[in-house]
Amino acid sequence: MNPYRFYQDAYQTELDTQVVRLEGNRLVLTDTIFYPHGGGQPGDSGELIIGDQRIAITDTRYSQDRSAIEHFLDEAACEGLGLSEGDRVTITLNWVRRHRHMRMHSCLHLLCHLIKDPVTGGNVGTDLSRAEFDLSEPLDKAELEARLNATIAEGALVSTEWLPESILDEQPELVRTMSVQPPRGHGAIRMVRVEGLDYQPCGGTHVNNIAEIGKVRIPSIKSKGKQNKRINIELVD
Ligand SMILES: [Zn+2]
Repeated sequence: MNPYRFYQDAYQTELDTQVVRLEGNRLVLTDTIFYPHGGGQPGDSGELIIGDQRIAITDTRYSQDRSAIEHFLDEAACEGLGLSEGDRVTITLNWVRRHRHMRMHSCLHLLCHLIKDPVTGGNVGTDLSRAEFDLSEPLDKAELEARLNATIAEGALVSTEWLPESILDEQPELVRTMSVQPPRGHGAIRMVRVEGLDYQPCGGTHVNNIAEIGKVRIPSIKSKGKQNKRINIELVD
């Protein structure tokens, strides 16, 4: 459905690929394992390997018209770098960072399972993530943290599927986040299922089993406006 490899296998850390173009410090490749910033998840970082030369990739983003994925190369290392179409290169992910994003992102979906109130926002970070809910009742931080960790420890498979985007008209309740509607116009929508717990449209990368998230901590729950509560999440390990 989608040519990008991070959708086929979120665990692939290295890829031999080819250059499409280098514009300034923005490199487009024929294929990529690097996730582009979007859906509340940061863009990937890592390295571009050309022979014995290693160049830092500092960020990954969609091009302005979203037709391509651009890898942002370290500016200084770009000078004199003669890359042209068809050149063979290797890219390798900063896997520790990406895996933290996968663990964090899956964890936010578990909060959507534990808290049934409307989701008003969310953001995945490497060290700190947050989910926001329009809550009618107060939340007990210690109790929520315990329930979250118990859910993670029990484990559940995470899988994805593509559905025709008409599903969003037929079942609008599938969209949990009020502030962000899934992208339309591609004909298909990517659904992420945490077996028995959560099912919603999502373009992010996830762990294969929620047990992989490991222990988490809720350092704070902050009030944002009258009903809006921001839940902050950290990975313990
Ligand atoms: Zn998601």
